[in-house]
Amino acid sequence: MTTSNHPSRICDEPRCGRSTHGFSSWCATHASRAYLHGCPKMKAGVRESDLRAWASWVNEGLSRYRSTAATAAALKLAQGILDYRNENGFGYQLELERMMLILKDDGVTAGDILRRVCLMVFLASAAPHRYHGSTKVENLAIGRAIMRLAPLQRRGKRYASRAVHLLGEMARDYLYVFGMRLHDRVKQDAAKVYELKKATMDLDTHAEVPTDDTPRAGQAHRRKRGIVGA
Ligand SMILES: [Zn+2]
Repeated sequence: MTTSNHPSRICDEPRCGRSTHGFSSWCATHASRAYLHGCPKMKAGVRESDLRAWASWVNEGLSRYRSTAATAAALKLAQGILDYRNENGFGYQLELERMMLILKDDGVTAGDILRRVCLMVFLASAAPHRYHGSTKVENLAIGRAIMRLAPLQRRGKRYASRAVHLLGEMARDYLYVFGMRLHDRVKQDAAKVYELKKATMDLDTHAEVPTDDTPRAGQAHRRKRGIVGA
């Protein structure tokens, strides 16, 4: 067997020019990006700093709508992800089972998983072209974001991409709709507050304001002390 059977080829990525890596149609760099992120063009995945910008929105939304049927169902589904059991004994399914045990051992809860997916949905809504329109790229990013809930056990060790993708796929299937509903609702809530704040500048337009004359606790106390507005 000579190298003439595997003529050195050029990386498939336009304007790269490096020769291909093994049987890959990309060079080592682009092959590694394709493996990690699902696309040779993706230089980096989603960083924690990308998600931080959405943390307060997600946390506020989750606590505001905590006692709803939607949240209860989403938490059950998220628990289902943590309790994942392999279906066919394939290597990547066993790896995902092991990964979920790592999270559980680290005290990660269904609520943590749900919050992560919501963060990813909020991020994607703000930057729709981030994943080059690829569901696979986004699934890998969601899976990686979830696994970052627990520190890597060995420095530099990575989870198998296929297992990370399965995790992201499950998280999307179970929780993406909830994340999008929450995103839209939080946005609407913010718009309402904005309208009210804008209206507080309008001292010219007439509006009926209800007078509140129901006796309240503390009212007599305030009147006695001469506190204005009692
Ligand atoms: Zn290349």
